[in-house]
This record gives sequence, C-alpha cells and structure tokens, in this order.
Amino acid sequence: MKVVVIGCGIVGASAAYSLVKSGVEVIMIDKEHEGNATSAGAGIVCPWVSRVDDEDWYKIAREGAKFYPDLISQLSVDGEENVGYKKVGALCVSHDAEELDAIEEKVKNKQKESPELGDVVRLTPEKSQELFPPLNKDYESIFISGAARVDGRLIRDAMKRAAKKHGATLISGEAELIIENGEVTGVMVDGEVINADSVLITAGGWAPFLLKSLGFELKIEPQRGQIAHIELPGEDTTDWPVVLPQTSHYMLAFDDSRVVAGATRETGTGFDYKTTVSGVNEVLSEALNVAPGLSNGKLKEFRIGFRPMGPDILPLIGKVGERSNVVLATGLGASGLTMGPYVGRLAASIVKGDSIDLDLSPYRPARALETVLT
Ligand code: FAD
Repeated sequence: MKVVVIGCGIVGASAAYSLVKSGVEVIMIDKEHEGNATSAGAGIVCPWVSRVDDEDWYKIAREGAKFYPDLISQLSVDGEENVGYKKVGALCVSHDAEELDAIEEKVKNKQKESPELGDVVRLTPEKSQELFPPLNKDYESIFISGAARVDGRLIRDAMKRAAKKHGATLISGEAELIIENGEVTGVMVDGEVINADSVLITAGGWAPFLLKSLGFELKIEPQRGQIAHIELPGEDTTDWPVVLPQTSHYMLAFDDSRVVAGATRETGTGFDYKTTVSGVNEVLSEALNVAPGLSNGKLKEFRIGFRPMGPDILPLIGKVGERSNVVLATGLGASGLTMGPYVGRLAASIVKGDSIDLDLSPYRPARALETVLT
C-alpha cells in the first residue's frame, strides 16, 4: 500500500510515522507555509481543566494527553530524544478562592477516570511563586502534576525524522490532487506525478484549497494567534510549570531560559501573516498582569500561527464523502498540540482500515463539507 500524506504539521507527521512503522510505503509532502500552526503553538498539554464543555472534545483531548508518554518512548527507541516534551505540571491561578474551589472540585472529579492527570494540590501564593517566580504575588493556585508542555517544532521534526528512518520519503513543496474520472489517483508536486493508493490530507488551515478541487467547500477557517517569546537570561526555567489564569491567555517555559506568553485568537484575518500593534499590546498586557516579574525580560520574538478552526469545537477525522481512499484530519483548533499525535495515529488507522476503539462518528468530516455546485 502506498500513501501520500499532504501536510506535515503535528498531525501529518504523526500519521506518517504511524503508517510507515506498520509497513506502509509513505510519501510525506509539506510546504511549511508561513504561519503553520505547529511552528507557532504554545505547547500546553492539560485538557483536564479546559473550560470547553463538550464530552466528545474532552474524550479525544484526554486520549491525546494520555498518548504522549507512549509516543515519546517510541521516538526514543528510534533515537529521537530531543522532543521538547516534559511533564512540568500546571498552576491554575486566580485571586478568587471560590473560583479555585470550583476548579479543584472539577479536576478531582476527573482523577479516577484520568489518573494520568496526577496530583491536584492547592498552593498558597508563596508556594505558587516559588514554582513560577515571575508570578503575581497575590495569586493562589491549584497545581496539577500531570500537565505537560511540548515544543511543537521539535516533536514534529522528530516524528518526520523517525518516519524517514523507517523508510518514508519527504518532499518539500505544495501538493495538488490528481483526479481521474472522479477518483483521486495521486498528487502532483512541482510537476512531479506521484501515484498513490490513498491520500491523507493533514493540511491544517490550508485543507480547503485541496478539498475544493474535489468539489467540496470545507468549513475550516484560519484563526490567527500571536504569541510572545521572552528570554530571562540566567534563569533556570527548565522545571517551571504551565500557568493558566482564568482567561484565554497563559504562559509556559522551556529549557532555554524562555517563557512563552500567549495568545491572541483572531478570526476573520485570513492568512494575513503579521504581528500587529494591538496583538502585541494584548499579549504583553495580559502576561504582565499575571506575571509582573517578566517585565525586565528580553522580548525575543513574536510568532504567528493560523489555528485550523472547524464549524464547531471538534476535529474533523475520517473519509471524504463516498471516497474510500481520501482521508481528512484537521480542524484541531486551539488544542492541536494536545491531540495532534493521537489524531494522526487515528487517521493512519482509518487509512489502513484498522478497527478503532473510539467512536469516531462525532468527528465525521461530513458536517463541515458542502458540495460546491459547478
Ligand atoms: P499545521 O501545523 O498548520 O500543519 C499543516 C501543514 O500542512 C503545514 O506545514 C502546511 O505547510 C502544510 N500544507 C498545507 N497545504 C499543503 C499542500 N497543499 N501541500 C503540502 N503541504 C501543505 N494546541 C495545544 O494543544 N496547546 C497549545 O498550547 C496550543 N497553543 C497554540 C498557540 C498558538 C498561537 C497557535 C496558533 C496554536 C496553538 N495550538 C495549541 C494549536 C495547535 O498549534 C494546532 O491545532 C496544531 O498545530 C494544528 O496542527 P496541524 O498539523 O493540523 O496543522
């Protein structure tokens, strides 16, 4: 069986890795568009405290978080150790004790079903600041020990490299579908024809361009996110936890004395790749409210990414229309670094026709596909 994977963000890279390890011939094609979401994503993996109130979302996000340790050990066997994943825990912070009571109760209720979320501990402002020194000294917190952070670029590139070690081919460029008598027979990249038995579309926010050639309007919109990277020279940030205030903003740290603070959620921007004055203002003001100790940090860069947003909160995973050889996996929105590797593995199973434990009907792509009348 020969499969072309179009788009190698975190979802496509994981699918390719899973497919090639099960003996499938895999061709990965990636354009690495400016603003691809995986390169800009913050990297918080902590679905248990999300304010999203949807059982099907929670189910797949939880599985996504649970899948990481297994993926990390698979990559380690393939010699890939630099993956940017670490369980550092998360601090849910607030000035409001009642708000924290409610979070504590909600997360503790999930412990039995999701033991991977680890311990749930109430911390004083002093203890909270000890764990994340720039934090506002008035915040109490709930610490969740199973939360993790992941560097999207590192884990994606590790999966791509590991897929290549197992025999996959990587082509840089933009793929178009080849359609003969209504059937997809392969793809074209820079004039080169690649025939395939199946095509997996993991093209993030760009997937609608491919679906259009098949006669579908795909309801995926890019949502721009601007996110700050702040250097704190001399600080050992390796073990700093993720910080989750009760807003859509947050921060987390990586090993290289770097704190990441995000992010804007801008709809209607299309693929307008730019850092805006209001975006910078919003992100830095929110960050300094929560962590005034960052004020003397060095602003290293602002990253911009386009989250692939579907018509609702759930990802799109499954076959496209009646075609049995075209599979779509996108629409992971703001949670793609959490669920991306798991969704990629699910997509690989669909391509191969394997049986799958999870009921995939809530995620069927049909709800986001409209036939274009020509
Ligand atoms: P992408 O990463 O966008 O990859 C799609 C790839 O397909 C690209 O490389 C593109 O070039 C390629 N492509 C498209 N069309 C073609 C074509 N025709 N031919 C070849 N290649 C093509 N998620 C979390 O879980 N936690 C977070 O903390 C978090 N923070 C975020 C912060 C920001 C600012 C942003 C923007 C996102 C964040 N996310 C987070 C969400 C997450 O980053 C995305 O949901 C996820 O990266 C989407 O992955 P993807 O593989 O579907 O898409």
